[in-house]
Amino acid sequence: MDFIPYGRQHITDEDIAAVTAVLKSDFLTQGPCVPAFEQALAAYCGAARAVAVNSATSALHIACLALGLGEGDWLWTTPITFVASSNCALYCGARVDFVDIDPTTCNISVEALAAKLERAERQGRLPKIVVPVHLSGQSCDMAAIRALADRYGFKLIEDASHAVGGRYRGKPVGSCEFSDITIFSFHPVKIVTTAEGGAALTNDPVLARRMELLRSHGITREAAEMTHASDGPWYYQQIDLGFNYRLTELQAALGLSQLARIDEYVAGRHRIAARYDALLAEFPVIVPHNIPESYSGLHLYVVQIDTDRTNRDHRTVFEALRNDGIGVNLHYIPVHLQPYYRAFGFQPGDFPAAERYYSRAISIPMYPQLDDEAVERVVASLGRALRG
Ligand SMILES: *Cc1c(COP(=O)(O)O)cnc(C)c1O
Repeated sequence: MDFIPYGRQHITDEDIAAVTAVLKSDFLTQGPCVPAFEQALAAYCGAARAVAVNSATSALHIACLALGLGEGDWLWTTPITFVASSNCALYCGARVDFVDIDPTTCNISVEALAAKLERAERQGRLPKIVVPVHLSGQSCDMAAIRALADRYGFKLIEDASHAVGGRYRGKPVGSCEFSDITIFSFHPVKIVTTAEGGAALTNDPVLARRMELLRSHGITREAAEMTHASDGPWYYQQIDLGFNYRLTELQAALGLSQLARIDEYVAGRHRIAARYDALLAEFPVIVPHNIPESYSGLHLYVVQIDTDRTNRDHRTVFEALRNDGIGVNLHYIPVHLQPYYRAFGFQPGDFPAAERYYSRAISIPMYPQLDDEAVERVVASLGRALRG
């Protein structure tokens, strides 16, 4: 039987035509598609600006730099995320700490964050940046986190890699109503894809311009940004230490074409989630908890083995599904338990809710083209695995 992956891209003839048109055009990079994609993305999210880059990892890096993160600073995030959410701080020479998750939403716990901030203020080591991650596509409680940011004076980067196409309190994720910068990933398993790719959205034109410079070597051709008058028409100045984090025209054309279907994709994900919710109701698993403020992007559908209702072992269930051709996955191994992070002194037991989640979570297949038959096959396989 066919293997069912946990996620996969959907490419249409329109996507192929859009990319082919770029191949036949004058510009493979630095042409009109990247700004068109940025404008479409910003308009979709209701943000002033979008800066497209070659990955969400790059977006996180330049977002941290634009906000002035450097040596001696702290960045805090959740341990239940992809390593990129915290690595961005290390790139800048800053230090990382984590805040445990809320066991119900599996997002960063606002109570734990408030308590940790109170302690950090007394110790004089408040974070410069906090990165809430919208796990599976469900927004964190951004209004409450914004209130803490205002009180303690830190900046906020939303890692919305899972959440493009979702909403919070009726507004699109990416509007940056409650944050300084929001970043997206366009990796093929995410909601819409550019193959590799990402973006940073903001309502602050100064931050947007800083990120544009950092994306492309820190080089400007704007007279107003130069230290002295131009030497001639060839002239540019490097005014910051940037990188080559640019998205290509091919990728932007694909992204623009995909963006036209984003609402359809997210709606498709919601139909599948509703089906899973119904079919799994009697299973000894905990299905995703939805908060009313959030309309999830539903990148992932994570079930947790309910250890109060079954003594089936997490790993056994996971392996049984894989052996059945179901491409389950685990999002995520708590970042503080990675060897690279243990070297900073983190240990098992540091973030108990995150570690408990890790001992029970399984991401089951979720993508809009998953048909009823495939959903039923996943559910049947999970049922067998849980019965043993
Ligand atoms: C995928 C992902 C990233 C990194 O995205 P890339 O585009 O692959 O760099 C960062 N954070 C989270 C939460 C992700 O899921």
